[in-house]
Amino acid sequence: KVRVRFAPSPTGALHIGGVRTALFNYLFAKKHGGEFIIRVEDTDQTRFVEGAEEYILEALEWIGIVPTESPKHGGQYAPYRQSERKDMYKDYAMQLIENGHAYYAFDTSEDLEAMKERLKNAGVASPQYNSITRTQMRNSLTLPEDETKRLLESGEKYVVRLKVPRKEEVRLNDMIRNWVVVHSSAIDDKVLLKSDGMPTYHLANVVDDHLMKITHVIRGEEWLPSAPLHVLLYRYLGWEDTMPKFAHLPLILKPDGNGKLSKRDGAKFNMPVFPLEWNGKGAEDEKFQGFREWGFEPAAVVNFLALLGWNPGNNEEIFSMKELIESFDISRVNKAGARFDFDKAKWFNQQYLRNKPNNEIADYLASKMVSNSLADTSYLEKLAEILKERAVFMSDFWEGSKVFLQAPSEYDEKLVAKKWNADAVKGLNSLVELLKNTESLTDEAQTKQLVYDAATSAGVKMGVVMLPLRLSLTGAGSGPDLMEVATLLGKEEVIARIEKAID
Ligand code: GLU
Repeated sequence: KVRVRFAPSPTGALHIGGVRTALFNYLFAKKHGGEFIIRVEDTDQTRFVEGAEEYILEALEWIGIVPTESPKHGGQYAPYRQSERKDMYKDYAMQLIENGHAYYAFDTSEDLEAMKERLKNAGVASPQYNSITRTQMRNSLTLPEDETKRLLESGEKYVVRLKVPRKEEVRLNDMIRNWVVVHSSAIDDKVLLKSDGMPTYHLANVVDDHLMKITHVIRGEEWLPSAPLHVLLYRYLGWEDTMPKFAHLPLILKPDGNGKLSKRDGAKFNMPVFPLEWNGKGAEDEKFQGFREWGFEPAAVVNFLALLGWNPGNNEEIFSMKELIESFDISRVNKAGARFDFDKAKWFNQQYLRNKPNNEIADYLASKMVSNSLADTSYLEKLAEILKERAVFMSDFWEGSKVFLQAPSEYDEKLVAKKWNADAVKGLNSLVELLKNTESLTDEAQTKQLVYDAATSAGVKMGVVMLPLRLSLTGAGSGPDLMEVATLLGKEEVIARIEKAID
């Protein structure tokens, strides 16, 4: 059975790249009738952020991703927080020492600095603790056995390092990148257990993926360099037969394609899902906006993210979560980085708002109105329909409806100077006359006919009347279809607004 995990470190808000990783894991699990779990990797206590774990779960829930197992939901392999599994990792580190694949290292930070310095002076660009340099250091491979024992017994601080072989090809088959081959000389003797007894990411990640029976590891490309090291760990722990399959997702690039999207790319581009208010930070910082605050529909965010690095193999773009699950195929994930295009995100939102039921939009409008005596729901639903064409965010419905709910108090000055003339006023006056003799405005065709008749009887062209009519009704030069606006406003309101404008 397919089991995948999203393994966030609770170091802050969930940004767009993290959400995409979670989404692809989720789609893959659902597609194969498997399970999606969340494991919190909180072994780096220096980067721990209060509240981040709850935040991550909530953010995913907002998007529509709910795990079957997590610290909150529990499950067969609990606990799902690494800090609560601390002792387990130590056992495995000791097992690796016993079978000769890891060792104790007693070097102080000064020792390590001095080693780096020495190597740098000798022309080594990136000094490593590895099969060559370890022979010069203070560890259980260089020290006599009884000295190691004495140091351990006296409580000397130590770390456990992986003993990476000098000459070996490490291969792994990535579902997206195919064969990845790395020479072991490029891997250093990574610390597995820190001096505070906590495991590092590498050890904890591999141990947990094994114990939690994870079948596929789907994560960002930034973890690809760690993958060969993980392969070695699986091998030395005797778990290579059941090692999960790997899939490293393409980077998300800046909108111009120049480099990786980073947290510094500003409020807009690498926004979190919503602000994480931490130690009072975040609330008042306008940069701490999120997709939710911007007015994105969760379904639109999901749709947009799914296409960031994946394509369905045809031109279709609109997918509900259900449709994504049906169409998702990990072999269609690209290797090349995916450009983050904020305008495209907005386009998706627009598509989703167009499909939103009018009554939901009407409810939203009603909630925005101080007093909704002005408008009954059917009126608000009509408004929703008219404004749909242009709305990118929910707030656009509210902005757009103001014109209907209140007569303009200002008129676009430039347009007035250009288009407001005696002929226009003549046409508008004749329209008022015609309207007074009309029972009510029932549809756009009728309204249009009235405007045409008014222009004709005033002896002016219809084009002369159109813009001044729009200015009278809305104050602006553009907006939703003018006949729709006039019809919805109704006879009395149109007359009142024209008279106010001419006045
Ligand atoms: N804790 C890692 C992170 O924060 C997880 C990487 C992985 O999925 O292996 O991204």
